[in-house]
Amino acid sequence: MHKAIPLYSATINFHVVLLIELFQPSPPVVKRCQIIFSDLQNIFKLFYTVHCCCCYQSGGYGETMINNLLNMFFPETCPVCMRPALDHATAPICAECWNSICRYTGPACQKCGKPLVSEASTTCGGCLQDEPAFVYARSFGLYDHALRKAINLLKYHNVRRLSRPLSDILLRMNIPPADVVIPVPLHEKRLKQREFNQSALFGKYVAQRLDLTLTLNCLVKLRNTAQQVGLSSQDRNKNIRKAFRVNHAELIKGKDILLIDDVITTGATVRECSYVLKKAGAGNIYVIALAHGVMD
Ligand SMILES: [Zn+2]
Ligand SMILES: [Zn+2]
Repeated sequence: MHKAIPLYSATINFHVVLLIELFQPSPPVVKRCQIIFSDLQNIFKLFYTVHCCCCYQSGGYGETMINNLLNMFFPETCPVCMRPALDHATAPICAECWNSICRYTGPACQKCGKPLVSEASTTCGGCLQDEPAFVYARSFGLYDHALRKAINLLKYHNVRRLSRPLSDILLRMNIPPADVVIPVPLHEKRLKQREFNQSALFGKYVAQRLDLTLTLNCLVKLRNTAQQVGLSSQDRNKNIRKAFRVNHAELIKGKDILLIDDVITTGATVRECSYVLKKAGAGNIYVIALAHGVMD
């Protein structure tokens, strides 16, 4: 579906502005031009985007150069502030919005990292009631604004180049000592639909940078569970129970695990993953994620 781009919003619109100056066309013609330039931009980008066949990360100096050039002539509109995004690495999110992504520094549960409303308690009710199998879980920021947009663009709109700058955000966190990196897996049906697992992209990059072992097929998701959002706490736990299994337990026996997720919404997923990993003989389990959803 075509989406009209506001006149000021991209320098593609430089071409449109030029047209207006030269020919003074009527508003419907201007709109049509915007759509054509927007389509041209997408076609060029699609044509020139090359992905690695195993990890689906876009890469390569040539491709970056082409994309930088394309971005110069056909910059995308930043979905956060609606201004042109000229920085290819984080496009379509502009550099200004990207730099606004900040660390959450408010009160949080010392165990699961869930943001708390006051500093009066250090552990949330959920962790007091049922202690998780992980040592602790931490997220960089809140699932909000530019960070939320970036994660959603990667997950639901296939903007895979964002996996790199998002992984860099993960690396800005205090990474606990671990032997093995395990991303939270997707069910194979979901994986087929999406074509990639965003947490696996982060895991691969983080493992490379920290010189850790990445283990992809050890923790598997058996059931394609319903979305956790909107479910009660009890239903969330029920929904995710027995959804994961450990294959090749020898790969994690006694090893400290860095479990990576994109967003911790309810915490039920990382709790269940940690539970099965621990049961299979894992050592200490630490969870890191990009963002924590503010639930109740
Ligand atoms: Zn912006
Ligand atoms: Zn907690």
